[in-house]
Amino acid sequence: MNLHEYQGKEILASFGVRIQRGIVAQNAKEAVEAAKQLTAETGTGWHVIKAQVHAGGRGKGGGVKLAKNLKEVEEIANQIIGMNLITPQTSAEGKKVHQVLVAEDVYYPGESETSEFYMSVVLNRATGKNMIMYSTEGGMDIEEVAESTPHLIFTEEIDPATGLLGFQARKIAFNLGLSGTAFKEMTKFVASLYKAYVESDSNMFEINPVLKTSDDLIMAVDAKVSIDDNALYRRKKYADMRDLREENAIEVEAREVGLNYVDLDGNVGCMVNGAGLAMATMDLIKMAGGEPANFLDVGGTADAKRVEEAFRIILKDPNVKAILVNIFGGIVRCDRVAQGIVDAYKNMGDSIKVPIIVRLQGTNAEIAKEIIDNSGLAVQSAVQFQEAADKVKAVLA
Ligand code: GDP
Ligand code: MN
Repeated sequence: MNLHEYQGKEILASFGVRIQRGIVAQNAKEAVEAAKQLTAETGTGWHVIKAQVHAGGRGKGGGVKLAKNLKEVEEIANQIIGMNLITPQTSAEGKKVHQVLVAEDVYYPGESETSEFYMSVVLNRATGKNMIMYSTEGGMDIEEVAESTPHLIFTEEIDPATGLLGFQARKIAFNLGLSGTAFKEMTKFVASLYKAYVESDSNMFEINPVLKTSDDLIMAVDAKVSIDDNALYRRKKYADMRDLREENAIEVEAREVGLNYVDLDGNVGCMVNGAGLAMATMDLIKMAGGEPANFLDVGGTADAKRVEEAFRIILKDPNVKAILVNIFGGIVRCDRVAQGIVDAYKNMGDSIKVPIIVRLQGTNAEIAKEIIDNSGLAVQSAVQFQEAADKVKAVLA
């Protein structure tokens, strides 16, 4: 589950990470109030107004702007709230901005130069360890840095048994070229960032930029945070941060009925039990010349109700031209599933307008095929994997 910048910063602050302070606002009036309050707390007269959407690269798209007085705060907030923000990380239509973060300006001039670093904590699945990635080249597109100057990106692996060790935090501060106050600040920053990542059950904390201010403080100016969905049951406080407006509407609905559904761009909907078979089925669709419209794992109980819910979800995608059902009856009996498909089809009346190909294998597969074939419905049965592929190809032709 992805979070907004302001929510990620809230979590960071609760673990003692220094952040660029800010207040979220839903409209220009609230933005001005927020700016006044920040001025009272921090003394700064300048503010950055930052679009809160689940996408990076907001600065490039005009979603992050500096305001030098309250009039500009109002103007910029009015301009950003309600806009369709298009960034390198959004679709071509962009994302609607519902709220902004009014933040203190932290790029003020002073004794030393400001510097922008990159830092993220992610899980390295290959080694089974957490990993801190960091670079002196912060503030910009990290993918670009990785592409053109990969030697400027460092990684530090952390053994989950020991956690982050003191020398590792010092090594990071050293590699970032820091000394004195900024060095000490950075070791503290790294330690608390890592703690925030572990104790919030996150998949990712990406801070770009991490800023060294002109008075040598180290702080998070941005925060891209993703919490592990499978841990949300024990992280109620974070689960409540979910913003459904930012998520794919069909996926939200699928989650509500307990279906494991991921929306994709293709034209063949698929309904499968088991993630592995779902992946194989998506390959099958590609081999047949189609493109999967979704990933959908209906799980162990493929009864009529569940099958119907799955059909409903798949059919919400207007790009679907055919549906391939590929179910292995190991625990669930194929004849039950077949009956479920027939019942669901009948229940849905004429809302199903696309051809359906059904492959059922396993317990009572022959009876299942008979049920499908004798149903009188526009549902085709297939026994072999290749046969299913051929039938998909035929209906797409
Ligand atoms: P992103 O573009 O979505 O990654 O949004 P960021 O939060 O990283 O902000 C984009 C850029 O805005 C940063 O890289 C900074 O250069 C700039 N920025 C952020 N905060 C401030 C600030 O307080 N003052 C000034 N002058 N610039 C800022
Ligand atoms: Mn950023």
